[in-house]
Amino acid sequence: MDVIVIGGGIAGIATAYQLHAAGHRVCVVERYATVAQGATYGQGGALLPSPLDVWFGPTFMSSNRAKQNGMVVKTGFHSAVRDFLKQLAMLREPDAFAAQYALLEPLVALSRRTVAEIESALQLEFEQRRGMLHVFRHARELEEAQPAIDLLRQFKVPHRVLTPEECVAAEHSVPEYPEFAGGVLLPEDRTANCPLFTKQLKQVLEDGGVQFRMNRTVTALRLDDKRAAVELADPDASRNKRNENVELITADAVVVAAGAETPALVRKSTPWLYPLRMHTLTAPIAYEERAPHLTVVDSMKRITMTRVNQRLRVAGAGVFQSASKADKPLDASLARRALDVLGQGTHDWIPGAGRVSAARPWEGLRLFSADGLPAVGATRHPRVFVNAAHGPAGWGLACGSAKVVADLVSDVTPEVPEQTLAALSIERF
Ligand SMILES: Cc1cc2nc3c(=O)[nH]c(=O)nc-3n(C[C@H](O)[C@H](O)[C@H](O)COP(=O)(O)OP(=O)(O)OC[C@H]3O[C@@H](n4cnc5c(N)ncnc54)[C@H](O)[C@@H]3O)c2cc1C
Repeated sequence: MDVIVIGGGIAGIATAYQLHAAGHRVCVVERYATVAQGATYGQGGALLPSPLDVWFGPTFMSSNRAKQNGMVVKTGFHSAVRDFLKQLAMLREPDAFAAQYALLEPLVALSRRTVAEIESALQLEFEQRRGMLHVFRHARELEEAQPAIDLLRQFKVPHRVLTPEECVAAEHSVPEYPEFAGGVLLPEDRTANCPLFTKQLKQVLEDGGVQFRMNRTVTALRLDDKRAAVELADPDASRNKRNENVELITADAVVVAAGAETPALVRKSTPWLYPLRMHTLTAPIAYEERAPHLTVVDSMKRITMTRVNQRLRVAGAGVFQSASKADKPLDASLARRALDVLGQGTHDWIPGAGRVSAARPWEGLRLFSADGLPAVGATRHPRVFVNAAHGPAGWGLACGSAKVVADLVSDVTPEVPEQTLAALSIERF
């Protein structure tokens, strides 16, 4: 079959890989000159989510204060965003959390296998690193995380609950003082460079005959029973107001993996998919002897601090504001607050590890769903599929989702249970 994939982030490139491996002729359309320029560029490095990393759950915004929950909330009168937050907060309830995580877990397991298969088939090096340490400042926070720790046990995720002394022994960059409550070590969990992986995979696909249409923006899908088509804007459209040169390319199926643009392209206007603005700081390592060798995660503030060669990547600081402001530059004072949250996290947990004053800031949108699960699989139209809305966990998860989508396009039963498939459907909204 001829398949068009819209989007050159990890979701689009991983989907193109699986479709190509299944024998389809694939064309990827990306609006930028190169791949991995969207949320994929900003990722914090954590390859796969554990119950401690997923967006929803017992530790999600348990406090309303940015200093404690790591989020900047400025919804004003925008009730849709407040409803979105309320919906996510419902999953703080332990049974609701456990049930939702149980639906996601088969996709996590499939994603683990998929990434491992690609890694061993292509022998890729993408700055992989093993070991994550989640740290908790107060005893109450560790108690709140208990349902997530229980799930680590239930799903046999290798982990150890550590005292503060054991945390300091496991990761020398974490300071003994001020006192903290302890941590959870996930020795097998990995971080890696997602944009690097995406670019390497793109090269493999290009060499293997996958077509790439870079610098092309899809403006609309045109669908009928027999074929699907996408409209590509004239690259000079901004200079050509009438935009007469729309190009149409047709295929048997279209996969929309366009990150935050996905709902608009599949005409799924729903308040349950929200483009959250997130931030990263990339700082040079300041003192080698203070640099962490494990990835350190402030679980309550959801700040991930990863060493990548001679750099420190600090990611987090989501800004909740009205969705209509999402595509506009962030107000300077909000951006400052968000970056301060990241700087403070670094100062608290790995002081002196990175030169934060010389850090390069980045911000971008990642698409979140109100029930914490991505939007993956078929749509109401038989020729349109999606791989999007992975929230904070799209690095590895997009790779397993890509396998699900490629199986559905190929009319093969996906390797996740039916309940999971139904829970991932974009039509659930
Ligand atoms: C700060 C931050 C930290 C994160 N940390 C982690 C982490 O530690 N672990 C983890 O697993 N995940 C993390 N994530 C999430 C992860 O990065 C995303 O889930 C993932 O990259 C999403 O990939 P994507 O391909 O769906 O979207 P994107 O990377 O945004 O890709 C979408 C692509 O589609 C293109 N596109 C959009 N519209 C069109 C159009 N109309 N025509 C043509 N092209 C179009 C865009 O240009 C873009 O290249 C983080 C995200 C951020 C922002």
